[in-house]
Amino acid sequence: MAGGWTADGAVQQQIDDSIQDALAKLRAQQASGPGLPNCEDCNAEIPLARRQALPGARLCIACQSARE
Ligand SMILES: [Zn+2]
Repeated sequence: MAGGWTADGAVQQQIDDSIQDALAKLRAQQASGPGLPNCEDCNAEIPLARRQALPGARLCIACQSARE
């Protein structure tokens, strides 16, 4: 391998980090429930990207910012 073991090790470390990240998100999701497809307050659809970024999100961005 041209990259040598150091470069391969770095890539492996990144993969390990990604897996740890995914597992942490999965645990957070299980802890707080699956969240809602629609906002609890105004019933607007919560974008999939938001639900993926914030597992357990129950409010749309507008209502969440209004509460904060
Ligand atoms: Zn809302």
